[in-house]
Amino acid sequence: MPELPEVETIRLGLQKYLVGHKIQDVDVRLKRIISGETKNITGAIIISVERFGKGLVINLDNGYSLAIHVKMTGQLIYRGVNAPKIIHLSTSKVGEDVPNKWTHVIFSLDSPRGEAGKSSTLFYNDLRQFGWIKILKTEDVQSLPFFKGLGPEPFKDLTPEVFESIIKAGNILIKVLLLDQKRIGGVGNIYANDALFNAGIDPRRKTKSLRDSEIKKLYSALLGVLKKGLETGGASELRFVNVLGEDGGYQKHFRIYGRGGKPCLICKTEVKKMFLGGRGTYFCEKCQR
Ligand SMILES: [Zn+2]
Repeated sequence: MPELPEVETIRLGLQKYLVGHKIQDVDVRLKRIISGETKNITGAIIISVERFGKGLVINLDNGYSLAIHVKMTGQLIYRGVNAPKIIHLSTSKVGEDVPNKWTHVIFSLDSPRGEAGKSSTLFYNDLRQFGWIKILKTEDVQSLPFFKGLGPEPFKDLTPEVFESIIKAGNILIKVLLLDQKRIGGVGNIYANDALFNAGIDPRRKTKSLRDSEIKKLYSALLGVLKKGLETGGASELRFVNVLGEDGGYQKHFRIYGRGGKPCLICKTEVKKMFLGGRGTYFCEKCQR
């Protein structure tokens, strides 16, 4: 599932290309993806795009917003006047063109600078169809269960002190804690695996067993891998692409995620794979203690 770096990559693209556009029409091809009244957003101008954990919020000038979660395979793809001329479309993840059979909602947009005859479009594609779009009043966004329960976020409220207190508050597996959106917002499986590897901590450790020095190391490692994810435009796993439909690059920098059976990047020992909390967990028995 797209995590903080991937969803932030989507947000940056939406912010860059959508702001200023007016929503002219909404074509809903699969009803269960979207809830709320589309008439409340038609005619409204997009003013900003925010991210909370793995969730996105597109704010409009009429007091309404679109809350979006792409879940496993959702894609938001922009085509129009603000897009660059050359796009390196990921045909393996998007298909040959948009719209296609995975396109479930189409937002028709006006031309922000009034170019005659030039239309723009935002497509919502979703292969597995677990994603959602909710139309609601901007003031109600924060009371959606998803947004309400989010833990503090890396690069925002998650200071080293807050991180330490979250770790020390219970006694569960450290890997499971990192993935719990109610404890920390935005971290998912890829970056949790890589952060634990970079910090030299065995994902099977209980949180109470972590020394203060290890907690500090893990904090820096977590921010480090998330930063690398952001810089490389996210990891193109499953169907993740940016808003132009292009691949990210973090998959070329995986530290241990997805490397089961391959040699550890540090000591060459075979990387082990197991499931913790139902999620694929990769670790090196020699480098992670
Ligand atoms: Zn190793």
